[in-house]
Amino acid sequence: MIIRKIPEEIERMAAAGAIHARTMRLVEGRIREGVTTKELDEVAERYIRSQGGVPSFKGYKGFPGSICASPNSMVVHGIPGPYRLQRGDIISIDIGVTLDGWVADGARTFPVGTVDPVAAKLLDVTEASLFEGVAQAKVGNRVGDISHAVQQRVEEEGLSVVRSLVGHGVGREMHEDPQVPNYGPAGRGPLLEEGMVLAIEPMVLVGRQAVRMGDDGWAIFSQDGSLAAHFEFTVAVTAEGPRILNPWHEVQAAVA
Ligand code: MG
Repeated sequence: MIIRKIPEEIERMAAAGAIHARTMRLVEGRIREGVTTKELDEVAERYIRSQGGVPSFKGYKGFPGSICASPNSMVVHGIPGPYRLQRGDIISIDIGVTLDGWVADGARTFPVGTVDPVAAKLLDVTEASLFEGVAQAKVGNRVGDISHAVQQRVEEEGLSVVRSLVGHGVGREMHEDPQVPNYGPAGRGPLLEEGMVLAIEPMVLVGRQAVRMGDDGWAIFSQDGSLAAHFEFTVAVTAEGPRILNPWHEVQAAVA
């Protein structure tokens, strides 16, 4: 069942999204060689709570962190901990913010200092594929139009889309219907209607698309050890077109 949101509800999600976007910029500013992923988690949690929000991931199905921090070949769901970022790493940061019961979900992969050209391309293409997907999130399109746009952008660059992890509806719950795959034919799947809110989140690998679970039962890695990137926005389908509710690319860095 797809839960559509009225404009007032979308505004409340946008308020969660504004905190989300500022948190992402704050974390971005802390990313450097030698920082642990636990330190990034603490910075994010402190800021989210200072704004009256709650880190959505904390305690979700028992997840211990406030954010997910997934370096290099880890795709998603990394538990923040003692890992220290190294120059040349890429680090995927996934953040959920709940404000007054409404969730904003989003992710971004950052370079740690200068990264090699393969990694830089992976980040550029994954981010570009997210924007291609967002552009399709309009009334009258179908979910498959988003999926196809993401897949096309990724595969024309010789990279792979993860199949076993998908985007989703978002609202009062972090995961609502419909599923939003990052692959598949255009023109298929649920019709996009005004008031739907979707977490669009391409997960892209340099190598083959298969993934495996890590020993902690959370982290998901590329099967072949190749680098992984993850970019995600919470996007409302509105009469005026797609609206990104957590526009981390547009906001100024938060001051903690
Ligand atoms: Mg998500």
